[in-house]
Order: sequence, then C-alpha cells, then structure tokens
Amino acid sequence: IHPVYAAMGTTIFEQMSGLSRELGAINLGQGFPDEPGSPDLIAAAARALAEKSNQYPPSPGLPELRDAVTAFYARRQGLVLRRDEVIVTSGATEALAAALFALVRPGDEVVLFQPAYDAYAPLVERAGGVPVSVALTPPAWAYDAAKLEETLTERTRILILNDPLNPAGSAASEAELAAIAELCGRYDLYAICDEVWEDVRFDGVRHRSLLDFPGMGERAVKIGSAGKIFGLTGWKIGWMCARGDLTLTLARAHQFLTFTSPPALQWAVAEGLTKPDDWFAAQNQTWAASRERLKVGLTAAGYAVLPSVATWFLCVDLAASGVMLDDRTFSERAVREAGVASIPVSALFDDVGALGGPRHVVRFCFTKPDAVLDAAVERLATFR
Ligand code: PMP
Ligand code: GLN
Repeated sequence: IHPVYAAMGTTIFEQMSGLSRELGAINLGQGFPDEPGSPDLIAAAARALAEKSNQYPPSPGLPELRDAVTAFYARRQGLVLRRDEVIVTSGATEALAAALFALVRPGDEVVLFQPAYDAYAPLVERAGGVPVSVALTPPAWAYDAAKLEETLTERTRILILNDPLNPAGSAASEAELAAIAELCGRYDLYAICDEVWEDVRFDGVRHRSLLDFPGMGERAVKIGSAGKIFGLTGWKIGWMCARGDLTLTLARAHQFLTFTSPPALQWAVAEGLTKPDDWFAAQNQTWAASRERLKVGLTAAGYAVLPSVATWFLCVDLAASGVMLDDRTFSERAVREAGVASIPVSALFDDVGALGGPRHVVRFCFTKPDAVLDAAVERLATFR
C-alpha cells in the first residue's frame, strides 16, 4: 500500500453524505443541487446516446467540445484560447490529477492555500511532491502576498489557486490575483488554477482567470467543470487549458489516467456551453435566491452567516453565533440530533491547529428547493 493511502480516512464529503443517507437527514453537506438539471442538456445527452457514436472519442476530447470551451471563455471571460489548448477530462478531479502528475517532480514543493479542496494534498503527495500550506482566514479569506512569499523556497515550483474559493464562497480581487501572478513570474512557478466555480457568481462579481494575467500564459493550467457550470455534478466532464507545449505534457498524463470521457455527455456539454448569457444569468438568479433564503433563515435563527459571493456555499461562524462547539462536533451532532448535514471547514485544512486556521466555521450548501432549506433552518433553529 502506498503510504499516502495507508493512513487515509474517507473524504469528509462522502462521510457526511453517507451519514445523511443512513440517518435520512437533510444533506446540506456535499455540494450539489437537488433540482434535476436543465431538461435541454439532459435531452441533448439522451439524443447523443441514441444517435451518435458510443465508442472512444479522441483522447483530448471531442473537437466540438474543445471548440465550445474556447468559445465560452472568449465570450464570457474575454480569454482567447485555441482548440489544442483545451483537454477534456473526467471532471475537474481528473484535471487536477493530470496537471499534478504532469508537473510535479520528486521533492517539488507545491503551495496550497487552505482551506483547500481535500483532493489537493493527497494528489500532490502521490505525485511525489511536498504540500506547503498557507492559511486563509475568515471573514475575508484574503490572499496575503507577503505571507505567500515567505513560504517560497528554491524547491517551490507550483501553487494551486482555487478561485472562487470552496468552501468560503469568496472570490479573489484583481489586485490579489495580480500579486500572485507577479510572484509566479519572479519565482518561476506554475499555477494550477482550479476555477470550477468561475461561473457560479453573484452580486455582479466578475471572474478573471489567473491564466489571463501578464506572464502567466506559459505557467498556468486553468481547470473548469461542467458539473458546476450546469449544476450536473454527476456528469464529471471537466477540462484543463494551457498554452503551447504545456498542453502536450498534460495530454500525456491524461491519456493514461482515463484516456477519455463518455461521448454523449461531451456532446451535451458542448451544446450547453452555447446557451446565451441570459440563460446562465437566470440559473445564477435561482441559486442567488436560494442563497438569500438560507442566509435570511439562518440569521433569523441566530446564526452568524459569513459573506458569500460565489459557489453554492454559505459559511456560518459558530463562535459569533454563540455556539460553543468546534465545527467537527457541531457537524457531527447536527446531522445526528437535528438531521441536517454540513461540512466542518477545519476538515479542509491539513493541520488546522498548526496553521492557526478556524475551528468554528461550518459550510452549508444552499442549492436546494425552498421547502428543504426552510426545513433545515427550522431544525437548526431548535438545535442551537
Ligand atoms: N475543485 C473544487 C474546488 C471543487 O469544489 C470540486 C467539486 N466539488 C472539484 C474540484 C471537483 O470537480 P469535479 O466534480 O468536476 O471533478
Ligand atoms: N466539491 C464538492 C463539495 O465541495 C464535493 C465533491 C466530492 O465529494 N468529491 O461539496
């Protein structure tokens, strides 16, 4: 057994969803919408399944999907990519693995901002790298370039930036991104830009990829996920974008991870990406209304809700809510005693104590029907 897996538990997302299923709890833990998803996209997938080839698509992805991704980014982010700069993967998770396997050399240090999506550290280690942590703290979860620079050594080669940030629901400012890009240039670092939440934004917040900053073209891998863009998390269609030779290296890693992904889903995602801007705006309005409903409900129930401008998540500051439980105890008791699952944010830190990260923040997923959110709030109101 590889040492990375020998001492490893089950991911917090599967733990909480498993407990929810077992206890019949309301699952506001793992992030996914309860709604069935766009009927147009589902019909497109069914049509493709019936009418198009079900054999291996080209390993880098269907050309039509690669073109759709480039057109989508050109239209919505002003980011101009070529078809051969996009590689389709089985979800962003595979893209992360492929990018790390392609770029990490034995002993390379990889900077992770924490809280971090829990796949990062094990993938870095399995790729032979050494994770180095920089803590972000609530309520702003701000990037501090000086603190980042202090962690860089001659062995640091890569950083992973998740913007917008899961679990915080925060988005980096233009100035923060510019400072990170400047450090990447000065210290000759690659950036793996996990931008799966790029299209789930509220309150007029804009998204600009780190890849788009001066000097980042040759050193950035931008990762996206149709699962988030369309709220179809089970589809596991993602992609990674990079300039020039970097794509060739990424393609080598991808070809021996999954080689390819189901063609019907690739066709449907290609079609979905051509939806007009107001289609995406309407979807975000629906999600924003759910965010507001949960925020108002939790606030009325006495919980201190932290700002969230992106993602499907709202965080609650337990200490500021007068709840004197640490986040893990709260999540464990809330799912068992109140029947509401959440994610303790400290679970997304490697060593929350050493990093001085928060132990009093829990994350709730709000992309649920009103009745589900209301029932969860009612249960949490009496639980506290
Ligand atoms: N990165 C982040 C930050 C995520 O939140 C998620 C999904 N929760 C992923 C990667 C994985 O995305 P996918 O389901 O497309 O593999
Ligand atoms: N990214 C999802 C979340 O944050 C979980 C994905 C998973 O469980 N692998 O809830």
